[in-house]
Amino acid sequence: MDYRLRDFLTRIAQPHEWLEADSPEAAILLGRLGIADVDLPVVVDGDEVYVGATVERIAAAWGLLEPPKRSHYDLAIIGGGPAGLGAAVYAASDGLATIVIERDVPGGQASHTSAIENFFGFPDGIGGAELARRAGRQAERFGAEVAILRGALGSRILGASDRVGLALEGGEEITASVVLAATGMTWRRLELPGVDGLLGRGVYYGAGRSEAPRCKGEDVVVIGGGNSAGQAVLNLAKARARVLMVVRAARLSESMSAYLVERIESDPRIEIRLRTQVTALAEDGGRLSSVTIADDAGKQETRPAQALFICIGGVPQTAWCPTEGIRIDAAGYILTGTDLLAPGDRPQGWPLDRDPLPLETSRPGVFASGDVRHGSTKRVAGAVGEGAMAVALALRRLAELGVEP
Ligand SMILES: Cc1cc2nc3c(=O)[nH]c(=O)nc-3n(C[C@H](O)[C@H](O)[C@H](O)COP(=O)(O)OP(=O)(O)OC[C@H]3O[C@@H](n4cnc5c(N)ncnc54)[C@H](O)[C@@H]3O)c2cc1C
Repeated sequence: MDYRLRDFLTRIAQPHEWLEADSPEAAILLGRLGIADVDLPVVVDGDEVYVGATVERIAAAWGLLEPPKRSHYDLAIIGGGPAGLGAAVYAASDGLATIVIERDVPGGQASHTSAIENFFGFPDGIGGAELARRAGRQAERFGAEVAILRGALGSRILGASDRVGLALEGGEEITASVVLAATGMTWRRLELPGVDGLLGRGVYYGAGRSEAPRCKGEDVVVIGGGNSAGQAVLNLAKARARVLMVVRAARLSESMSAYLVERIESDPRIEIRLRTQVTALAEDGGRLSSVTIADDAGKQETRPAQALFICIGGVPQTAWCPTEGIRIDAAGYILTGTDLLAPGDRPQGWPLDRDPLPLETSRPGVFASGDVRHGSTKRVAGAVGEGAMAVALALRRLAELGVEP
C-alpha cells in the first residue's frame, strides 16, 4: 500500500516529502496534527489530512478521477503506455474525439525505468516516467481525454452500428467508432530478493538489445530458454560478452527454435547450464556483481556477473478484448494485418470486401499497437511509431464508416 502510494506520487510528478512511520519527524508531525494511532499512511496536503490514504482516495480528492466527458468517441485507446500515448497525441492533433483509458497512471512499462537511453532525440537518455508525463500533457493539450485509474473491463462489438462498447472500472460505459488495443504486456517477474533494487543497474527484463554493446568483455547471465532468451545470448556473444545461459528445462529444444539452438550450441562464447536456476544476486556499490545458481541436485555456484537479463516471458494484457473473433497467437498476443492472412485467406467471419489493414485485428475497426501486438519490437520507439501509424489507419476506417472527425 505505502509503495503504491509513493509510486503514484512519483509517477505523476507530485513533489512530496516521505516520512517513515517510526521516524522522529513523523512523530512530531502527527503530534502537531493531534492524531495518533491512526491508520497509515497519512497524507498531509495543506489543511487536508487523509488518514489511511489510498491512491484512489487521493486521486479522487485531487479531481483526477473524472468520468469520461462523452458517451461516444471517434477513437478509444485502451492503455496509456508509449503506444497509447503516441496514438493519443496524433489522434487528438488530427481532430479525433479521443479518450485514453488507463488502469494505472500513464506510462506503461517504460515509466518503471529510470533512463531510456535509446529513444530517438534524447542522446543523454530520459526517465520513462518523465517521457510519459510529457506525452500525456501533449495529448491533453491537443484535446485528448486521459482517464486514469480506470481499466477497461470488457468490450463488445455492437453488431449493426459497427461501434465498440467498452465497460470501464467505475461502472461507466462508452462507445467508440474505432478502438486501439495498446495494453502492452507484463514481464513475468523473477521472484528473488534484490531484483527490483538492481533494475537498470545490472538487472534487466527482456533481451537487452540496447545494453548488449556495453557488455563487451563482461560476464553476463541470461535466464530463460525461449526464443527471446536465445536471441539475447546470441546478441551478447556477438558483442563479445562472456555469456552464461541459465535454463530450467532439460533441453534447449523444449521451447526454442531449432536454428537458435544450433547457433547457441556451436558458439564457444556461450556456456549453457540446463536444469539450473538463479537463486541469489549480490551487489557491489549499488550494481549487480554476482549471481548464485543451483542445479537440480542442489549444487550451488556463485559466478561474477555485471549484467543479468531476465527473459522468462511476457503476459499480453488482453483480458478486456472483445471476444468476438479477435484472433491471438499461441502466447496470447493479438494478430493483425497480414499475420491474419497466413493461410492466404481472410480471417473467418471477416465481413468486408478488403483485407485487414496493417495493425487491424480480425475485427474491423479494432486495431492493436505496441507490445500487445504479435510481432512488435518491444521497444518504446516501436510502440510510439505503431501508435502513430494506427491513427492514420483509424482515419481510413472512419472514412469507411462515413464518420467525419
Ligand atoms: C524495466 C524495463 C525497461 C525497459 N527499457 C527500455 C529501453 O531502455 N528502451 C526501450 O526502447 N524499451 C524499453 N523497455 C520496453 C518498453 O518499455 C516497452 O516496449 C514499451 O513500454 C511498450 O509500450 P506499450 O505502450 O506497447 O505497452 P506498455 O508500456 O506495457 O503499456 C501498456 C499500458 O496499458 C495499461 N493497461 C493494460 N491493461 C489495461 C486495461 N484493461 N485497461 C486500461 N489500461 C490497461 C497498462 O497499465 C500500461 O500502462 C523496457 C521495459 C521494461 C519493463
